[in-house]
Amino acid sequence: MFLKGKTALITGSTSGIGLGFARALAAEGANVMINGFGEQADIDANVADLIRTSNAGALHSPADMTKPDEIRAMVADCTSRLGGPDILINNAGIQHVAPVDEFPDEKWDAVLAIILSSAFHATKAALPGMKAKGWGRVINTGSVHSLVASPYKSAYVAAKHGLAGFTKTVALEVARQGITVNNICPGYVWTPLVENQIPDTMKARGLSRDEVINDVLLAAQPQKQFVQVEQLASMAVYLCSDAAGAITGTNLTMDGGWSAQ
Ligand code: NAD
Repeated sequence: MFLKGKTALITGSTSGIGLGFARALAAEGANVMINGFGEQADIDANVADLIRTSNAGALHSPADMTKPDEIRAMVADCTSRLGGPDILINNAGIQHVAPVDEFPDEKWDAVLAIILSSAFHATKAALPGMKAKGWGRVINTGSVHSLVASPYKSAYVAAKHGLAGFTKTVALEVARQGITVNNICPGYVWTPLVENQIPDTMKARGLSRDEVINDVLLAAQPQKQFVQVEQLASMAVYLCSDAAGAITGTNLTMDGGWSAQ
């Protein structure tokens, strides 16, 4: 429990990868503030579970990552009620798929706001506290799309590439202050969102489950296996350790070989 006494704030953590990060950091004893949308009963159950795991504090912030005022209030709330954030994981994200000449303006704005601008606003608000303590970890959830592109995902690829540049810039600014800043770049990750697409895709394309996984979902992922949420969470825990203190300003891929091509 090497994170006892530390506080982690994870945006977009009511499900999927963010919830995996929250669970893994709580398992190391951290106080955790989760954020995101969902059924209140599920959120309450997750918060209770995090408290049981960490034997420390856990709270939920409903802040909308498209709203800078709410992001600042979330960081202030985390500071006053949990102390911190010592660890900030900018993880909230959405996707929209369309050719660029048909891409809806409001979808472009929403993807950029939730993935890129929210990371700016949250990092800006969290850094003064980290600087005062002389210790901090900022982890961005990028994507293999921080490094390479796929067609029809212009907003997502632009936002995730932006996150890679933002990561490097902030890492340089705080390099002498005990704060590291890194961008984790996953390939396709096994989440309920992915799992739930499989039956419909099988039906729509007349394919078997294995064919959908290998030839559709994992077409660009050479290992032909999904990254697991727990594998990503282990990387985040590692980045919070002293052993990873010299890793900063990096794009760390966990993509089954995707970006090697
Ligand atoms: P998910 O849909 O399970 O989780 C997204 C989270 O963001 C949820 O908690 C949701 O409530 C929250 N959220 C969405 N809009 C929000 C807003 N306006 N304000 C606050 N919270 C908001 O998705 P996931 O697969 O766990 O994705 C998490 C991150 O990982 C994203 O940044 C995504 O781009 C990235 N990623 C996912 C994959 C994958 O294959 N699943 C691969 C690479 C990168």
